[in-house]
Amino acid sequence: MNKKETEQLKEKLFYKKESVFEAAKDEEKKAISEYAEGYKKFLGNAKTEREAVKEAIKMAKDAGFEEYVLGGKLKKGGKYYLNNRGKSLYLLRIGTEDIENGVRISAAHIDSPRLDMKQHPLYESEGFAYLKTHYYGGIRKYQWVTIPLAIHGVVSKTNGETVDVVIGEDEGDPVFCITDLLPHLAAEQAQKPLERAFAGEGLNLLIGSEPIGEGKDDNVKLHMLKILNEKYGITENDFVSAELVATPAGKPRDLGLDRTFIAAYGHDDRVCAYPSVTAILDSKDSKHTLMCVLADKEEIGSEGVTGMQCDLISDVIEEIANALGGNFRVVKANSICLSADVSAGYDPMYSDVFEKRNSAIVNCGVVMNKYTGARGKSSTNDASAEYVARIRKMFEDGKVVWQTAELGKVDAGGGGTVAMYIANHNINTVDLGVPVLSMHAPLEVISKNDLYQTHKAICAFFK
Ligand code: MN
Ligand code: MN
Repeated sequence: MNKKETEQLKEKLFYKKESVFEAAKDEEKKAISEYAEGYKKFLGNAKTEREAVKEAIKMAKDAGFEEYVLGGKLKKGGKYYLNNRGKSLYLLRIGTEDIENGVRISAAHIDSPRLDMKQHPLYESEGFAYLKTHYYGGIRKYQWVTIPLAIHGVVSKTNGETVDVVIGEDEGDPVFCITDLLPHLAAEQAQKPLERAFAGEGLNLLIGSEPIGEGKDDNVKLHMLKILNEKYGITENDFVSAELVATPAGKPRDLGLDRTFIAAYGHDDRVCAYPSVTAILDSKDSKHTLMCVLADKEEIGSEGVTGMQCDLISDVIEEIANALGGNFRVVKANSICLSADVSAGYDPMYSDVFEKRNSAIVNCGVVMNKYTGARGKSSTNDASAEYVARIRKMFEDGKVVWQTAELGKVDAGGGGTVAMYIANHNINTVDLGVPVLSMHAPLEVISKNDLYQTHKAICAFFK
């Protein structure tokens, strides 16, 4: 073989990772930045699973989707949304082909790590009023002190009324924070291992300091409750039936001089939820029956009525099968699923926890994880070679820039997604999503290139 032949053979036989910067034509580059604007708007309004459900319903309604409740009518060609308790959402597009060919499902989660208020959160200590929190999902506690935090959520009262709460997002709103030691007095704290330097019980939100009325006991606390009562009509008892959470305050921002990144709270996993929604809205010409699931509770194990372990997904498929005269078990067996969730983006600052050959490289497109898990692939859906090949073909046809990866080095840690819970229903499933830097931090970073390739990938899957 001469030099030229060697090069040609390498070209033919070697795998080559592609960068979206090289692969995308000018027209696609324009689409990438336009698509990112829509995502930033969505993300800025969707800081909790409840807010994400509301935003997605708005988008679906604008596209002509109608509300469906279990037991309702489903027709060929129909477009529906099922709102599961305001915290998870199913979008359905009923196709024209035989339903026993199965349903094509894209499932992403819309909950993110954050600080939940406890049931009795409010207390006063030496002139300051605080809210006690219990963190939700995998956070690194030191990242959540001394940053501006907003309060989001609902308070449900015994009269049946549920009040929405958002404080800290508008320009004129106050924000809240968890204080930290000054370096001058942190000598002892600085000696502690990171995991122990910040205690869960120390994550208390500072919310005020002015007392009202006579006497000395709890007059700041009284003031806080008076403000909340005047604004929301609530009393201290109502905290018991509330879901109030602290999230980082502020909107998503472009990051970098070239604006290639988006820095924001909650990319994991709304950065896959948004493309799942846009893909089903855009897939007008598909003959397949399509389903987009936005799930809650992934960050704490997918349990409960709004988590992916709930039987609802199976119930919805059964309703579709019955409505269109298909055998439910056959429909499930022939259904296929993308578990749309983020992956750890390779970070040159922390290269030692990655094995670069099998890492998700930012700007190299959407990433497929054949398996996730930890300690020898424990607790994972490991997609079959045949199913992965089928997905590869779809991505080739759809001209998607994509890559495969594992989450970090073997035994460096690990993680899971909703994939296995869907696969357990006898549905072929594989993980797919956007590489993220600083995952689970108050400020996560993604690339607009990878975001857009995720939209393209799900469109190709729905086609
Ligand atoms: Mn996730
Ligand atoms: Mn996560």
